[in-house]
Amino acid sequence: MSERERAIIAAVSKQLFIGGAWRRAQRSFAVEDPSTGNTLCEVADASPEEGASAVDAAVRAQAHWATVAPRERGEILRRAFELLMARQEDLAWLMTLEMGKPLAESRGEIAYAAEFFRWFSEEAVRIDGGYAVAPNGRARVLVMRQPVGPALLITPWNFPMAMGARKIGPAVAAGCTMVVKPAPQTPLSMLALAGILQEAGLPDGVLNVVPTTRAGEMVEPMLHGGRVRKLSFTGSTAVGRRLLAQCADEVLRTSMELGGNAPFIVFDDADLDAAVEGAMLAKMRNIGEACTAANRVYVHARIASAFVERFAARMGALKLGRGIEPGVEVGPLIDARAREKVASLVADARERGARLLVGGGPVEGPGYFYRPTVLLDVSPHARMRHEEIFGPVAPVSTFETEDEVIASANDTEYGLVAYVYTRDLARAMRVCERLDVGMVGLNQGIVSSPASPFGGVKHSGLGREGGRVGIDEFLETKYVAIAAP
Ligand code: NAD
Repeated sequence: MSERERAIIAAVSKQLFIGGAWRRAQRSFAVEDPSTGNTLCEVADASPEEGASAVDAAVRAQAHWATVAPRERGEILRRAFELLMARQEDLAWLMTLEMGKPLAESRGEIAYAAEFFRWFSEEAVRIDGGYAVAPNGRARVLVMRQPVGPALLITPWNFPMAMGARKIGPAVAAGCTMVVKPAPQTPLSMLALAGILQEAGLPDGVLNVVPTTRAGEMVEPMLHGGRVRKLSFTGSTAVGRRLLAQCADEVLRTSMELGGNAPFIVFDDADLDAAVEGAMLAKMRNIGEACTAANRVYVHARIASAFVERFAARMGALKLGRGIEPGVEVGPLIDARAREKVASLVADARERGARLLVGGGPVEGPGYFYRPTVLLDVSPHARMRHEEIFGPVAPVSTFETEDEVIASANDTEYGLVAYVYTRDLARAMRVCERLDVGMVGLNQGIVSSPASPFGGVKHSGLGREGGRVGIDEFLETKYVAIAAP
């Protein structure tokens, strides 16, 4: 490790953050740099008892926190936004070291995370209710909106800070306290964020962070007993489904941001350069390890060869390497298991007749690198048409008609996002309406923004994060019936 890397890692607390204090844990676990396979450091590994202490702290802090003025809650978020941006470079290094993505993308994620704090700093003071005269005139209806209560926030490793900020921002703005359980692959970004929120003035106990390798054991008891009043989860559909079942006992409110299987559709009237550019972004952002990643590329037969030639050339020319090195465009996958999954999906597609245009294999040597890959003629029965690839592999197939491509695009259990490239406005509207998804990128390869309601339908989840509705996930509605004066 270089001096700079050592200093970046040393600057972060590796302990549990409970009740405003950093605490040692009985056990610890290793955090790895996926670009080398080397251990970066050891981090406290919360036990179920320590998880319960974090819930205690959140429950204790809730009553007072709910009374703190909205403007004050907003100002804390605003200060956190400023601090994140002031430390963007060091935080980007930290994220790249634990997650692998190129520095430019880590900088982008820090800015994206910070924007959620800025957005929700502005929403904290806009929480409102309602007043109405009952239809029969004999009562008045007063509608209050109040914090839902202590929330449990569970986040994945692929966006180690933004997925947390997208939950913490609205929870703070709404007046909820919270316990955050980050993914064990990437706990450092979240621990750094906890330090920043504390520095920004967040009162003790409002935010608690408990990394653990024993997620199932620690989380399930937290969901029982009625102390946690809300679960907000981002991760795989398989784990989300299990957590929903656990939440059913307590009839717990949930937000679920789950997996995706995004179609990327290019019609024959599309701006081809823009479509190739969009496909690069939608496929290769975050090394393909994104719920929004283009998982299936559909190109109209008339323009397929022109599109594929340019797209494959761009994919084949990408520079792989450690994310902290200048000019690197593609980092490693998160771990050996992730790389094996990508390799097995490619092997399965090729066995079913797919043609390999570029890439198609791992890179020898340390780290979990996999070459950017383009496959043609992928069978509709190939596993990668139905499962998340979560890697730098693009299966391209052709289509002839609008009906046919919509049917293929919708033929999946997922419904997070779709991308559509066309210059025909009527077709654009028709296709957007018929796609079974929560979000559409229209002539655009990226949909994420703090101002928009992010989320999916079908097995991609429940609820929306960001935008005007993002704060609703952390608010309860109470209505008071008042006898008419
Ligand atoms: P994962 O489901 O394996 O893990 C997500 C989180 O859940 C981690 O913190 C993990 O430790 C925790 N977890 C695992 N088992 C648990 C259990 N039994 N009880 C409680 N918590 C448990 O997902 P991942 O591999 O970390 O992330 C990748 C997945 O996340 C992909 O499916 C991706 O599409 C999805 N994702 C979705 C969005 C979205 O906004 N829809 C965003 C990013 C990632």
